Amino acid sequence: MLENELLLQIAKDYGTPVYVYESEKIIHQYQTLKNAFSEVDVQIKYACKALNNLNILKLLKQQGAGLDVVSIEEAELGLMAGFTAEEILFTPNCVSFDEIKKGVEMGISINLDNISMLEQFGNEYGNSVPCCIRLNPHIVAGGNKNIQTGHIDSKFGISIYQLRHILRVVKSANIHVNGLHMHTGSDILDADVFLRGAELLFDAAVDFPDLEFIDFGSGFKVAYKEGDVTTDIEALGKALSSRFLSFCKQYGKPLQLWFEPGKYIVSECGVLLVKVNVLKQTTATVFAGVDSGQNHLIRPMFYDAWHDIVNISNPDGTPRIYTVVGYICETDTFGWDRKITEIKEGDVLAIKNAGAYGYTMSNNYNARFRPAEVLVENGKYRLIRKREDISDLIRNVVMD
Ligand SMILES: *Cc1c(COP(=O)(O)O)cnc(C)c1O
Repeated sequence: MLENELLLQIAKDYGTPVYVYESEKIIHQYQTLKNAFSEVDVQIKYACKALNNLNILKLLKQQGAGLDVVSIEEAELGLMAGFTAEEILFTPNCVSFDEIKKGVEMGISINLDNISMLEQFGNEYGNSVPCCIRLNPHIVAGGNKNIQTGHIDSKFGISIYQLRHILRVVKSANIHVNGLHMHTGSDILDADVFLRGAELLFDAAVDFPDLEFIDFGSGFKVAYKEGDVTTDIEALGKALSSRFLSFCKQYGKPLQLWFEPGKYIVSECGVLLVKVNVLKQTTATVFAGVDSGQNHLIRPMFYDAWHDIVNISNPDGTPRIYTVVGYICETDTFGWDRKITEIKEGDVLAIKNAGAYGYTMSNNYNARFRPAEVLVENGKYRLIRKREDISDLIRNVVMD
C-alpha cells in the first residue's frame, strides 16, 4: 500500500493528474500466481495491453515473465524492454496476414484465431513455422458484456465446434501446431470456468500430437471495492495443476501450462492522483470536479467500472457524499454518490486500482495532455513517463 504522504509528495513534485505504480505489488501478484502453479511447468505471459510502460515491462522481464501481445507495435515494445522474441506470444484478432508475417519475421510465437489465417499460414509456411490455435470454448464468463469473449457471437477464437474443419486444414497443409489457447473474458470469478474450459481444451488436444503448451488465457478477477470476491488463485492452482498433470500423462509427454494475465498483475499496483478544481453544489448533488477525466481513465464511463476514490489530503475528515466528475465536455463521471472524507478545493484524490487499462486506454480528447507516470520502488520514486506537452499534440500535423 502506498502511503498518503508519499503520494502527496509525488503529486507535489510532478503535478496532477499523475499515475503512480508500486513495483512491489506487481512482483507480489506475479509471484502469487507463479507459486499457485508451482507443481507444473507454468509460464506467465504478461498481457501488456493492460499497462505497457517500458519500465514496467522490464520489471516483469526481470521477474521471469514472458509477454502476450496483440499487435506488432506491442511486440516491438516488448523487444525494446529486453524480452527475446521467443518469450513473446502474438495473439492478434482481425489483423492482416501481412502483420502475422511480420510477427514470423520477428521470430515471435504466433497464435491464430481464425480459419482464414490458419489456411494462409499453412500455405505460406507449411510445417516450417509452428503456431498456436486460439479456440473459443463458448463459455460465457466475465464482468461487463464488453469484456466477455466466450459467447457464441464473439469475434474471438475459432469455435470449438469447428474442430474438424481446423484439423482438415492442419492436415492438408501439414501445419505444426505447438499450442492450444483459450481466453474467455475478463473479471472471471469462478475457478470452475477455467476448469470447464480446460476439459474442452484437453479433449481437443489429443488430436494435436506436437503440442508443447496449453494456454488458459486470463481473466482473473481482482477486487475493485471493499468486499469484492476475487478469483481464488490458490484453489485454482491446486485444482487445475493436478488435472493438468493427469492430462499430460494421458497425452504422453509433459507440457507447459501458460497464462496471460494483465489486470491481475497490474491493476492494484496503480493509482491515478487528481486534484479537485471545483466543488459545485446543485439542488440534488455535490460535485467534486477534478483535473482529469475519461480521457485519462475511461473504465468508469466505458465499462461502468467501480474505482474506489479517497481524499488523501484529508483522510481523517468527516465522510460526506460526493459525485466525482472529470473536466471533459461529455458526461464524465469517476464515481456517483461516493462517501468520501470532506473535500476542499485543491485536495488531492486517489483513484484506486488504476494500474490496468488506465494509461494504455488514455487519449487526447479535448486536446488534453496524457498524464505523467511514476514508479515507486523500495520506498523511492522516479518519473517513468513525462506528462505530454503541446508539441505532442501537433507532432504529426502537416501545415503548408
Ligand atoms: C486482454 C487479454 C488478456 C488479459 O486479460 P486480463 O483480463 O487483463 O487479465 C489476455 N489474453 C488475451 C488474448 C487478451 O486479449
